[in-house]
Amino acid sequence: MNQRSSRREAIGRVVGAGLGMASLARAQPVRSPAVVTAGSSQVPTWKTELRPLAPNVYAYVQGGGPGQLNQGVSNAGVIVGEDHVLVIDSLGAPIHAKNLIAAIRQAVPNKPIGRMVVTHHHGDHIWGLPFFPKMEIVSHEYCRKAMLDTPIPSPTWEKRDGWAEGGEERRIVPPTTVINDRTTYYYGTTEVQLITMVPSHTFGDIAIHLPEHKILFAGDIGFFYVAPFLNNGHCTKWMETCDRILAMDVQTIVPGHGPIGGKRELAEMSEYLGLFKAEAWKRYNAGLTPGQAAAAIELGKFDRWIGARDRLPMNAVRLYAEFRGTLNPAFDSEGVQRAADEMNAILAKR
Ligand SMILES: [Zn+2]
Repeated sequence: MNQRSSRREAIGRVVGAGLGMASLARAQPVRSPAVVTAGSSQVPTWKTELRPLAPNVYAYVQGGGPGQLNQGVSNAGVIVGEDHVLVIDSLGAPIHAKNLIAAIRQAVPNKPIGRMVVTHHHGDHIWGLPFFPKMEIVSHEYCRKAMLDTPIPSPTWEKRDGWAEGGEERRIVPPTTVINDRTTYYYGTTEVQLITMVPSHTFGDIAIHLPEHKILFAGDIGFFYVAPFLNNGHCTKWMETCDRILAMDVQTIVPGHGPIGGKRELAEMSEYLGLFKAEAWKRYNAGLTPGQAAAAIELGKFDRWIGARDRLPMNAVRLYAEFRGTLNPAFDSEGVQRAADEMNAILAKR
């Protein structure tokens, strides 16, 4: 175990250094050392579990892998204090949230759930909130605003196997506390640092760092073996955030999507972003539309990542906005639809 983590740490340092230099010249694909490529393109299958990471610290991972329904299936975290439990993210469907609550009740039967940290505003992290007890909910200031702006598809859930019994309430439960920089809680002897890292995946991301355990709950700053999506993100700044995390004293990273990993997995995800940016940049300069770019871009080993094809149009649209200097926090749904239609039309002719 020690050998494995020290190897992982070493890989992280090497890759982190490479990415740091590459961030100055993003027009070139990030070519990371061979260690990243070796074996790492095999997309694993992982199971749903509440996994202990350290005394009083757990990751709740929802299962996934190739051929499984991964869309909207996210991860959470659990930290146990002297008198209550802190939860990181509420998941995105009634049954998912209830399963998480049941797992917490089983592992920690005698302490109430007393605080929630929301890593960002996306539905797969916040629709579970109504199923938790009333409590303090902490988020980035932008995250709260974006949650309140989120349209509610319908006031109740329709029945869906494994997701909803049908009839459960669907509403936004707004955060009660917002932060713009960082704040620290102490859960017994566990120091829990909430660190804003914006913009990255959104303009309201919070990562949770437990320094003495070298654990980082990254929210959707981390996508492991699942293609990261940029709908509300800023690709270049997100890569800079990855460099920042790779320079931190962290060994275990719990991503928002995918299995638990470390710096190697985060560096590889950043490599995806760098490669995508370089490939989109070439097409942007050649005068192609985002849809044409999405149809043409090949991602090599990353084509096997979960959702890789589906996320090409949205990521191309977002990068084009960054190149043009028109990027803002909101999601360009019309632009993405146009690009997806165009990409699909081109692919259908092949
Ligand atoms: Zn997200």
